[in-house]
Amino acid sequence: MTPGQAKIKQITYEGNGHDAICSSCPWTNTVMTIMASQKMVYMDHSATTATDPDVVKAMLPWFSLMYGNPSSLYKIALESKAAIDDARKKVASALGAEPEEIYFTSGGTESDNWALVGVAFANRKKGDHIITSAIEHHAVLHICKYLEKQGFKVTYLPVDKDGRIQIDDLRAAITDRTILVSVMFANNEIGTIQPVKEIGSVCRERGVLFHTDAVQAVGNLSIDVAEMKIDLLSLSAHKFYGPKGVGALYIRKGVRVDSYMHGGAQERRKRAGTENVPGIVGLGVAIEKAAQNIDNNVSRIRSLRDKLLDKILDEIPNTRLNGDRNDRLPGNINISFQFIEGESLLLLLDNAGIAASTGSACSSGSLEPSHVLLATGLPAEIAHGSLRLTLGVENTDEDVSYVFDEIKKAVERLRVMSPLYADYIKARSCNV
Ligand code: PLP
Repeated sequence: MTPGQAKIKQITYEGNGHDAICSSCPWTNTVMTIMASQKMVYMDHSATTATDPDVVKAMLPWFSLMYGNPSSLYKIALESKAAIDDARKKVASALGAEPEEIYFTSGGTESDNWALVGVAFANRKKGDHIITSAIEHHAVLHICKYLEKQGFKVTYLPVDKDGRIQIDDLRAAITDRTILVSVMFANNEIGTIQPVKEIGSVCRERGVLFHTDAVQAVGNLSIDVAEMKIDLLSLSAHKFYGPKGVGALYIRKGVRVDSYMHGGAQERRKRAGTENVPGIVGLGVAIEKAAQNIDNNVSRIRSLRDKLLDKILDEIPNTRLNGDRNDRLPGNINISFQFIEGESLLLLLDNAGIAASTGSACSSGSLEPSHVLLATGLPAEIAHGSLRLTLGVENTDEDVSYVFDEIKKAVERLRVMSPLYADYIKARSCNV
């Protein structure tokens, strides 16, 4: 019997899925009304995912029935502690790690910040040099800027046109002062997967620690930290149908990392603060489910993605795929449409009930072109016309047809209004 199972049985649900779970929530009617009033197609799974109903069900008892503080010593507290240990085993098993190597955090940002700051300060006597890539998420780039202010030196590796670092550049950048390499597993904007295994081998050979931000990879790609020689790995539950605000950092046994949060003795004195028990339980169930279904999910999502991608590239002129065609996250499409603004396209798609992104959700609202697209050598004016669609488990063939039709209509409409497009058409007709 798993922790809390006896109590869980006391809770009854009318039916399955989100409708049943949300039936007493005051927001449900509003949300249901919005959703019923128009078609809604969600293609922004790299920003976040809907929490799986099985995950929600597993979490619920830990809010109001089994609410004991895992640090306390009575029965319901011990149940909470056992639930955390159970989730720790599930996370470890999905990564090929040991449970003692998993530390729960508040999500991807905290895991990235902790990995970099924790390694930097714990190993300062050994060296002061960190290597990362130019296309990392801001959760890594901004903490690198902070470390530079603290006296550390950071090298930002360039990427090729598809967004991949070169192993020779990495080798050349490592010095005897280098303590850490942090390169993401897969990029959140263009989906390109890095040569993680080679990076791990180079780092191990040269005695340098290797951290990877696998926030977009977990649930989408198979990961084995031992085989890939990864020393630290960040993940976040809300990217693979788990709850928001909970994640984990894998720290290989023996790696010296300073504590990031200071206070109580939680997480073996490494990460203070009362644990988010429902969130951690949800993370455990989500990662276990993701690992069990990875092959089926990935092949289905990839085939829908390819159908949509090929249709856009074949049938809408002056478009360009960003990122590697093959080595990319299974659900990711990142396309630049010449002569239009990504924000205008996004608004038209939103009016048609389609949720997508111009780049990274973390930088939405900013009018700066994406640092990732610029690093691949894309000119700023083309980067501005980019759209990211990220497909997930609930998408269907029907969604693909609908989204394609709406994109085609929207691009045509925006181009008709674009003076740049008018100039292009004029120049083209003069050259004929
Ligand atoms: N790293 C990557 C690659 C991401 O895509 C994100 C979020 O989009 C994060 C880190 C931050 O994760 P969280 O939202 O859990 O803080």
